[in-house]
Amino acid sequence: MSGHTDMVLVDENGIRIDGRRVDEKRPIKIEAGVLKNASGSCYLEIGKNKVLCAVYGPRECRPRHLQDPTKAVIQVKYNMEAYSVTDRKRPGTDRRSVEISKLIAEALECVVQTELYPRASIDVYIEILQANAGTRCAGLTAASVALADAGIPMRDIVPAIACGKADGNVLLDLNKEEDNYGQADVPIAIVPSTDEIVLLQMDGNMTREELDHGLDMAIAAAHEVYEIQRDALKRRYASISKKEGESDE
Ligand code: ADP
Repeated sequence: MSGHTDMVLVDENGIRIDGRRVDEKRPIKIEAGVLKNASGSCYLEIGKNKVLCAVYGPRECRPRHLQDPTKAVIQVKYNMEAYSVTDRKRPGTDRRSVEISKLIAEALECVVQTELYPRASIDVYIEILQANAGTRCAGLTAASVALADAGIPMRDIVPAIACGKADGNVLLDLNKEEDNYGQADVPIAIVPSTDEIVLLQMDGNMTREELDHGLDMAIAAAHEVYEIQRDALKRRYASISKKEGESDE
């Protein structure tokens, strides 16, 4: 987020370097139930980001000292693969991945009915296979689909998307160049049934009016992401019912 580059990020016609309008999100593909051995799973692409998420549980919480007698704990592990970026990333946990894992767990705790599973753990593994900015939003969006695929009771599912600012324009869903050289990046996640915001961060600077405009765009786009999440789950349930029907015959 340097805010300085000779690159034109938004041209005089309001078109961005990847051809999008300022209020256009990248194409999204979501598939639920892609892994056989996990309780639930999801593969998601948004633009050039590729994310795989696996959920295990609810199961006995380990290590035991993390158990909560009143509810399940959600343990998230966000991991960017070494090959997910153009310069090899140093493998393993770093401050950024710890921070993102915590943010995602806190957002999911707002919707998962953890009180139904005292002392249990719900383990969420998010693997970033290919990164192009917006991976925390992509990871959280995939995680809520994977949790629903695991059959874990939730009040709602959580879609996430960023808004921000580059070349003086308020933008939806920043790509890597806009994230690197723009003036602000604001990832958000909402609970669609109430529009409650369960994740909000801001890196960079925007005026109050720009932020309000960006949030309006991001909340509207999050509702569209929600529909794509629901469609993925409907396709998944339809394929499970079809298989069950075939095995009954
Ligand atoms: P997000 O992916 O949620 O936007 P950041 O703003 O921290 O999170 O990162 C923006 C982008 O910068 C990432 O999606 C990725 O493309 C790139 N990036 C982040 N960390 C690294 C790293 N350690 N090495 C190389 N590229 C990175």
